[in-house]
Amino acid sequence: MMSKKNVTKVILDETEIPRQWYNIVADMPNKPAPYYSPMTGKIATADDMAAIFPKEIIEQEMTSERFIDIPDEVREMYAQWRPSPLYRAKGLEKVLDTPARIYYKYEGTNATGSHKLNSSIPQAYYNKNAGIKRLSTETGAGQWGSALSLASNHFGMECTVYMVNVSYQQKPYRRSFMHTFGANVIASPSNLTNSGRSILEKDPECSGSLGIAISEAVEDAATHSDTNYALGSVLNHVCLHQTIIGQEAKKQLEMIDEYPDVVFACCGGGSNFAGAAFPFLMDRFKGKKVRAVAVEPTACPTLTKGVFAYDYGDTAKAAPIAKMYTLGHDFIPEGIHAGGLRYHGASSIVSQLYNDGIIEAQSCGQKEVFDAAVTFARAEGIVPAPESSHAIRAAIDEALKAKEEGREQVILFNLSGHGYFDFSAYDSYFGGKLENIHYDEQAVKASIANLPDIKG
Ligand SMILES: *Cc1c(COP(=O)(O)O)cnc(C)c1O
Repeated sequence: MMSKKNVTKVILDETEIPRQWYNIVADMPNKPAPYYSPMTGKIATADDMAAIFPKEIIEQEMTSERFIDIPDEVREMYAQWRPSPLYRAKGLEKVLDTPARIYYKYEGTNATGSHKLNSSIPQAYYNKNAGIKRLSTETGAGQWGSALSLASNHFGMECTVYMVNVSYQQKPYRRSFMHTFGANVIASPSNLTNSGRSILEKDPECSGSLGIAISEAVEDAATHSDTNYALGSVLNHVCLHQTIIGQEAKKQLEMIDEYPDVVFACCGGGSNFAGAAFPFLMDRFKGKKVRAVAVEPTACPTLTKGVFAYDYGDTAKAAPIAKMYTLGHDFIPEGIHAGGLRYHGASSIVSQLYNDGIIEAQSCGQKEVFDAAVTFARAEGIVPAPESSHAIRAAIDEALKAKEEGREQVILFNLSGHGYFDFSAYDSYFGGKLENIHYDEQAVKASIANLPDIKG
């Protein structure tokens, strides 16, 4: 066994890539509430979802089997960069002068630079097997669009990405990345869909939102029989695919005789949090003491300030209606730099766990998030994504608390991606232009007044 005193990183052999995904639904005391169909207004059936998803994905969405086999073709593709490394943040511990031991799992080592490839690969694979020729999707910050472009190209499918207009303008190199993998990238709202056109009629300069881009991508898939839709977060099957992160991390920590007291991950729709935390929660359900904390921006505080209720997943009310913590589907968060965390809702599973007190949530402002990002970059030599830096902020605060109280603690956080496409955000920070943005309470109140009338 390696000594935990000296370890800098723990690398596993590719034969140790997990063979199954862990489905936390099997162990939840209260199961996530069923989706409702926006078409029928009733509980969504597999048939309702068949217009936009392949059979295997719908099954994974609804199953309560504890473990789901990972197909060989998917594991083979995972092997290009998995198992991902687990690092001990020795440099950061030194800067903080803390008695805590801080570890991070780094999901930025693949070409697309984030954890999202973990789910785009199986989603493309199942669609390819179902005879689908093209995938449509939305992208906010560009990471999901990049991940689905690469996976679609690998399995010989076309890919259409509706990219939120503000990011389309701000992140041209994310666009170039998707073009490199053959995707068709469209600024959203666009003239290509009814939902896009109706928004442009009212506001020709509309800068777009994730909710609008989802509406366009879902409409595209629903109106073309050879096209399906793929979503990069929120849904149960996406959370499921991400659980390879936590399974690997557990094995890596075991190799150095460690177990975390607390796991942090940032939370947009909830998928990287799910991926990092759920395999540890599996132990918690068996009595082990471990905390899991989701960290979100103060500009879009879904778990900490939202309501737990049924809501639409998108602006045009075309996607399944889910019971989740939500700020309301009309709420458009400010254009903070952590674009991947600007979604009005959260995964039903993560929401149910939060409501049941099994997980915790915190929020932080983007200025202190970038303080943490720069401290981390200088100490560890990796420039983190603005999204991931929320988890870094929370881990640093926890380590400082441990120092104050003079106690040892083992902290794990998920570094969901790198920030090498995000230097314009870093430039704003260094130029003193970043402000802490708090959500608009009145706008959320107004938006929550428009929730669908489903009790459940
Ligand atoms: C998309 C993204 C997120 C947020 O999505 P989740 O589904 O909540 O994980 C976080 N970090 C990075 C790097 C992302 O690309």
